[in-house]
Amino acid sequence: GDYFTNQVEIAEDKLLGGLLPAGLDEKSCMSRYQSVLYRKKQKQQPSSYLVSRLREYEALHKRCGPFTESYNRTLEYLNSDGQQNYNSTGCKYVILTAIHGLGNRMLSLASAFLYALLTNRVLLVDPVTKFSYLFCEPFPEVSWFLPSNFPIIDKFKSFNWKSPENLIKQKSHATWTSSPLPPCLYLHLEHDYDNDEKQFFCGDDQKFLENVPWLIIKSNIYFIPSLFTIPPFQEEISNLFPDLGTVFHFLGRYLFHPTNFVWWVVTEYYNTNLARADEKIGIQIRLLNKYPNPFKRVLDQILDCVGKENLLPQINETKSSFVVQSEKLNRTKAVLITSLNSKYFEAIKTMYWNRSTVTGEVIQIYQPSHEEYERNRNEMQNIKAWAEMYLLSLTDKLVTSGWSTFGYVAQSLGGLKPWILYLYEDYKAPGMSCQRAVSMEPCMHAPPYFDCTRKQYTGNTVKLNPHIQHCEDKLWGIKFI
Ligand code: GDP
Repeated sequence: GDYFTNQVEIAEDKLLGGLLPAGLDEKSCMSRYQSVLYRKKQKQQPSSYLVSRLREYEALHKRCGPFTESYNRTLEYLNSDGQQNYNSTGCKYVILTAIHGLGNRMLSLASAFLYALLTNRVLLVDPVTKFSYLFCEPFPEVSWFLPSNFPIIDKFKSFNWKSPENLIKQKSHATWTSSPLPPCLYLHLEHDYDNDEKQFFCGDDQKFLENVPWLIIKSNIYFIPSLFTIPPFQEEISNLFPDLGTVFHFLGRYLFHPTNFVWWVVTEYYNTNLARADEKIGIQIRLLNKYPNPFKRVLDQILDCVGKENLLPQINETKSSFVVQSEKLNRTKAVLITSLNSKYFEAIKTMYWNRSTVTGEVIQIYQPSHEEYERNRNEMQNIKAWAEMYLLSLTDKLVTSGWSTFGYVAQSLGGLKPWILYLYEDYKAPGMSCQRAVSMEPCMHAPPYFDCTRKQYTGNTVKLNPHIQHCEDKLWGIKFI
């Protein structure tokens, strides 16, 4: 009886409200349609407009993607020195080289994908991004990877702000409008972009870029909140996401499906350790500032946060065998800690080891790995990082560390508003160890703060609108609410 109803419900919901395309091979990517078995019921549904634009995108990707006839013809433009018009193939591209840690790369990829959707371009991922062992192909039939024989692929590594392809930097607007359009442009969208490069976020520049067939973006940031400040995109983003607090949530669930190996790691760990607990709490510990000897201070901060916010119960200090009468008696809470080292795990585990709690709840502490150092090029570390972000996203309540894109991915995929542990410098008020986030959205760490009319830096202030505010964990960052 129950089993049957369950299966019917799964069949209905496995496309996540139409977010995912139907009919893809299940065996080659088990996670795509099985994620619904592990996640809580999705609170919000994607808008029907987002669903229809995704299906249109998939059709465009199929028509223009790697090795299609249109792709081959658009490649020929790369041999031209510049011309007025490139629209004979009907295909335009944005190639993304995503750099730095996995969280950063995922955020910049989702941003580039939304940019492609907004500008009717096809997204192609530079193979150096090394995503093939982490994520299934998200689009039906045609790959999202740029073929490794792409004519100028060897030049990508050397692209930086000095490259001649970085026209935004090298030439003034006047030159652009009077000369033929280049076939290819490099856009530097890293946290260290300068005033010229920030013009990407201006309407004029977008008008110019519209007709350039190949755009190559190098990025390590989440840049969607700033796309929202560009007039033609603002309305479209609002139509796609009537609730702007769900932008990365839906894009992430659409794009990022663990490969079968990662899925096996996730599900094995989940089924063995977490599945049976009555409640699952995630704690992501990441120390991004260089404060010396942080251990005791950070441990105290975590314990203060989970205590004050009633995420974990206090230890029962009275030694008597008095049994608490509580409706929570013998309920289990599984705590999933992720961190590069195991010190916090050891300390918290020891604290709860063999001791009763004031509520009578039983606390179990887990940590899947401790890698000690960040090594972003290491395949196994990336697999563990992705599996741990995913596991954190399956918890009921989540505590994250300020500034960390690793935490942002976990919270958004999980649809969770986390409690954010402040970094030491950012303590708002003495004694305040963490704060509940206003939305599950990632923080954009380095907004351009650029006035497109005056063409100058505006200082760390944005005209905040009701949908964007400064981040809880990074005061000069911005996020959707
Ligand atoms: P951020 O630096 O916190 O913004 O997150 P990123 O994901 O961009 O970069 C940090 C990288 O360090 C990750 O991609 C992992 O390779 C590694 N890392 C950091 N914290 C953890 C952790 O808790 N578990 C694992 N397995 N790796 C981690």
